Parts: sequence; structure tokens; C-alpha cells
Amino acid sequence: MEPSAQPKDKFSDPQVTAKGERRAWVDLTALKTLWFNTGTLCNLTCANCYIESSPKNDALVYLTYDEICTYLDEIERDRIPTEEIGITGGEPFMNPDIIKIIEECLQRGFKLLVLTNAMLPMQRKKISEPLLALKERYGDQMTIRVSVDHFNQDMHEQERGAKSWAPMIKGLKWLSDNGFTIDIAGRTRWGEKEDELRDGFATLFKKEDVAIDAYNKRELVLFPEMDETVEVPEITTACWDILGARPDDMMCSSSRMVVKRKGADKPAVLACTLLAYDKEFELGATLKEADKSVLLNHHHCAKFCVLGGGSCSVID
Ligand code: SF4
Ligand code: SF4
Repeated sequence: MEPSAQPKDKFSDPQVTAKGERRAWVDLTALKTLWFNTGTLCNLTCANCYIESSPKNDALVYLTYDEICTYLDEIERDRIPTEEIGITGGEPFMNPDIIKIIEECLQRGFKLLVLTNAMLPMQRKKISEPLLALKERYGDQMTIRVSVDHFNQDMHEQERGAKSWAPMIKGLKWLSDNGFTIDIAGRTRWGEKEDELRDGFATLFKKEDVAIDAYNKRELVLFPEMDETVEVPEITTACWDILGARPDDMMCSSSRMVVKRKGADKPAVLACTLLAYDKEFELGATLKEADKSVLLNHHHCAKFCVLGGGSCSVID
């Protein structure tokens, strides 16, 4: 008699789940949003940074202006229907080419979303002055998304570290006072109800005179946590109907992220912003090569996207 097959671990086989069912996948329907991770270096070391950024982590090195232009050229040349560019890090305002990169995206007509902690890297004169000039020129074509984990200073600093509150408030007020289009990325990790969180943020924005509507889900985006220790089911092709979810609602159906790994000779295109270190989600060097289906073989696919309903397009 043949020995029986060993049970598989969850998320071990890209095609099949531990129970032997066909794993769900997501097709790229249209590349609407292209993200650039401009590098993992950051001025902070947040407790739950999904990409483990810190002042020392350069696992994803700075993308250069020329590297970014290669992808913008590919969009133009191949008439890819990309409408929006997202810029994330690390702290993007630490990238030496960041102003040139922002300007290039804007002058090519893309909507632009820049994720930042709004602290010192953004507040340096050599950044804030040209950034303001770009805002004057391009107006609300550019949105700056500021991470404010919680409306309460202690909670925010639990996540971001001591003395991280006042510089963030200073940067946020500067953006608001100067008429930037801003929104906020908050976290739900402390377990309050959404209404309570929005009420708390509304009070903060009123107190600090910051022009953000905390009850507008686009202006205050609340992100669930991505805790890899929580047990989650694997997503099979049958799950879409059972859960009432659709592959087209997943970020990887309409976006990709470009990164450059330390030591690599060129950047790589990943399935989404959430899985920067998992080689299985590296799809190629060009946007064309990355135009393929993504098998949902990761804990985050289940927890954050399919079950959590996270709008992954905008996490810092
Ligand atoms: S969450 Fe944002 S600010 Fe915090 S370490 Fe990560 S990249 Fe830096
Ligand atoms: S984490 Fe979400 S966006 Fe990324 S590949 Fe999985 S389902 Fe797609």
C-alpha cells in the first residue's frame, strides 16, 4: 500500500490549499494604479510597520528618477490605462530624487498619492519649498496621505515612538494651512468602533484646525492590522461566492508596485504593496511581464484583502 500523502502546511503550495482545494487567484483587469516604493529607509521604526522600515532597513533601496521614468515611459508607449501613481516607502521624502519624481508624475498628467509621516524629512526647506511650488502648479492632482495612527497622542506614540506626535502635527498643519489636498491613514489596532474613531479624529482635526472631514471615508482611511500570527483560512475559488467577494475588488486586480531590492541590478514589479519581501509575488522586471494572474498564496491575501476588506492601495 502507498503511504498516505503528508498533509500540507497552509500557504505552502501556490496552486492548492492544505485541504487540496484549488487556490483562488486574481487576474489583472487593468493597471489603474502603479505604486513606487521609493525605498524602505525611514526616520521612524514603527511597532507594526508592514514593511519593517527603519533608519537602517535598506532592503529596498532608493528608486532613482531614471528608474521611475522607465516605467512611466512603458505606460505611455504601451498605452497602459494607468491613471494614478502612488508613492510609498519607508519615508518617501528621504529619497534624494523625490521632488523630481513627484514633478515627473504630475507633469505627465497622473493623479499622484504620496504617503508620508509628515515629519522632519518632509519639513526640510529643500523639500517643503519645491513641494509647495508643485502644489501651486498642480493643485489637487496631488494628494498627500499622512499617517496618524490614532487621534490620541499616547496611542500614536505607542506605535510610532516617543516624541513622534508633535512633529507630525506640525507637518500636518503645514500641509493643511497651505491648502494641500490631504488625507489621513489611521489604524484600528486598538479595537474601538469605527464611529468612536471618527468622532475622536474629528475632535482632533477641529482642535488643530486641520481641514479634513473625519467622517469621509476617503479623507480618513482606517486600516485593519496585518497580524501574521492570527490563524486565517486559505482562500479557494469557492470562497468568492461564499463570501460575496470579487477578485476585481482586490488591489492586485488593478495595481502593481515597483521596488528595487538591495544588490539587484534593476527594479522588480510586485503584485501589490503588501508583500514586498515575498519572492513568489515578484512578477517580472517590466509592467508587461507583470501582467499576469496572482495566486492568493499568502496570509495577507486572506486576512487583509479577502476577509478584512482592506483597501490595500494606500497603506503606509
Ligand atoms: S509605518 Fe511608515 S513611518 Fe512607520 S516605520 Fe513604516 S514606513 Fe516609516
Ligand atoms: S495581499 Fe491582497 S493585493 Fe496583495 S496579492 Fe494578496 S490579495 Fe492581492
